[in-house]
Amino acid sequence: MKISTKCVKLEMNTSTISLAQKILENRFSCQCCGACCTEYEPGSNRVMVSPEEIHRIMEGSGLSFEEIAEPYPERIQESGRDYTFGWVIRQKGNHCMFLSESRCTIYQNRPWICRTYPFMLDNDDLIVHPCSGLNRADSIEDPKDIALNLLKRQEFEHADEDRIRNIFATKTIPAGKPVVIDGEGIKEYHG
Ligand code: SF4
Ligand code: SF4
Repeated sequence: MKISTKCVKLEMNTSTISLAQKILENRFSCQCCGACCTEYEPGSNRVMVSPEEIHRIMEGSGLSFEEIAEPYPERIQESGRDYTFGWVIRQKGNHCMFLSESRCTIYQNRPWICRTYPFMLDNDDLIVHPCSGLNRADSIEDPKDIALNLLKRQEFEHADEDRIRNIFATKTIPAGKPVVIDGEGIKEYHG
């Protein structure tokens, strides 16, 4: 089976079609089992989120920034400074706080990581995480949409990483208080 180019949107170029072909080979159809939102080993369901993604969830949920996210847990402590890069969605018990009865309660505003699971790109390589929706015989999801989302996610993440790198290189990290460095700046964390 090949990806048809007849109905392909204008933004589909040769590399996107080749990525879609690789995705198609995995015959993915989400079973809505919630397993990817549930921790099976420490950090396995960790969802990193950018400030932009958190703001979108805030608008949709009415929750505050710190009700949604907590600092990425691996902190760097040196020369009196205590910092980490970025945020993760909070957990409730052993699963994401937004999981309810195996459903995502912020589905329309879910982060890129969730939007593209079980796939991710490592430069040009397609990485496929364990998932019960792979190799299905039932109706598979449109690989062209997944490919386009993966490329958008990669572009979004690269831009966010660039902003963080720039802030890290040009701003002074204060000593004596825990901070989070994200794409918007250096933020004190109040728990
Ligand atoms: S992406 Fe996979 S693990 Fe996650 S809900 Fe769908 S089938 Fe389950
Ligand atoms: S945001 Fe939604 S899809 Fe993502 S881990 Fe949480 S419940 Fe799952």
